[in-house]
Amino acid sequence: MNEHFTGSFTQQEPIPDTAIDAAVAVLKSGRLHRYNTGPDEAGEVALLEQEFAAEMDAKYCLAVASGGYAMTTALRAIGVKPGDRVLTNAFTLAPVPGAIAAVGAVPVFVGVTEDLVIDLDDLAAKADQADVLLLSHMRGHICDMDRLLALCGATDIKIIEDCAHTMGAKWRGRWSGRDGIIGCYSTQTYKHLNSGEGGFLVTDDDAVMARAVVLSGSYMLYGRHLAAPGAEAFEAVKYDTPNISGRMDHLRAAILRPQLQRLASQCAAWNTRYREVEKGLTECPGLRLIARPEAETYVGSSIQFLLLDWDAAGVQDVLARCAARGVELKWFGGAEPMGFTSRYDSWRYAPAEPLPESDRILAGLIDMRLPLTFSLDDCALIARIIRSEVGAVYQKQPVQ
Ligand SMILES: *Cc1c(COP(=O)(O)O)cnc(C)c1O
Repeated sequence: MNEHFTGSFTQQEPIPDTAIDAAVAVLKSGRLHRYNTGPDEAGEVALLEQEFAAEMDAKYCLAVASGGYAMTTALRAIGVKPGDRVLTNAFTLAPVPGAIAAVGAVPVFVGVTEDLVIDLDDLAAKADQADVLLLSHMRGHICDMDRLLALCGATDIKIIEDCAHTMGAKWRGRWSGRDGIIGCYSTQTYKHLNSGEGGFLVTDDDAVMARAVVLSGSYMLYGRHLAAPGAEAFEAVKYDTPNISGRMDHLRAAILRPQLQRLASQCAAWNTRYREVEKGLTECPGLRLIARPEAETYVGSSIQFLLLDWDAAGVQDVLARCAARGVELKWFGGAEPMGFTSRYDSWRYAPAEPLPESDRILAGLIDMRLPLTFSLDDCALIARIIRSEVGAVYQKQPVQ
């Protein structure tokens, strides 16, 4: 009898009781807007910003309406203008090129390697085409940051990091999001903290932070921030920076603060699940796991593997067989994007040169979410199912 998995790949854990209590208190107060605070009251949003900045060893933090909003604000805050070109990953999630498009700029897509990180050779080749890089640590894979920083330093490229999948991850012991001028994070339901929608940006730069706060819609109430520079920084920008409202509210902040306290243990819980699936897929013929570099401390909230150079029918067969046994896999190589878009050729509003090496990798790239509602037994079962179905189909693959 074939084993079946019956769990849901989209079921998150409940919001912790302490967070629910804090949310109810905000609701009872009626004061939901971040600047609607009582006398001597900091408010949930300002406290959350202070706590997140401390957690990330950052001087400043701004909580906003979404991860996408954090990225558009970051681009504006460092001065990206309509028509400017911005380097970014050819493989990432749609809000990344979308943020570039939102400010009227034009993405220059950089390829992906078999390790699922930005192709630094391709980046070097395109370094003269733009002076900003919106670097996405897509699916939690961190590229060789030492080489990336050397390259961007030598070519005067400013870096904004998209850490939607690396909140809590590190490179050589340094938090992901702290190597660029600005780090951006999402607190949308499928990320590492869950407020439904939401996001953060962090920076150490006074002028950048002042512009970001005013951009987010501070109505000259920037003095109420606890993780922002002093009034001088705002004096310099407040008349020249438009208000493009995208604030976070107290309700979401109240839900996030208790979750932030347990981020490290959540990340550890993801990693035990990740390693269980990884272990179950080790040395599976035809399937290639993604090597994780020593310098990277990852958060395994999803797992990827490659069916490299398989024909499309074979990949589809694996997906269908796994789905029939309750295992939902995403295929980044599908001809038509379904439920999400992650590939440069799906974003036809932006010009794109063909990237044949990346196409080869994406054609074999499979992805699976690992919600924390899965037990370790669930993870082992899922791996057994994938392993047996990959094995069954691989035997029929044309000889490579
Ligand atoms: C989710 C995500 C974002 C931000 O998403 P929002 O839905 O706007 O919060 C950014 N980059 C990547 C890679 C993502 O997966």
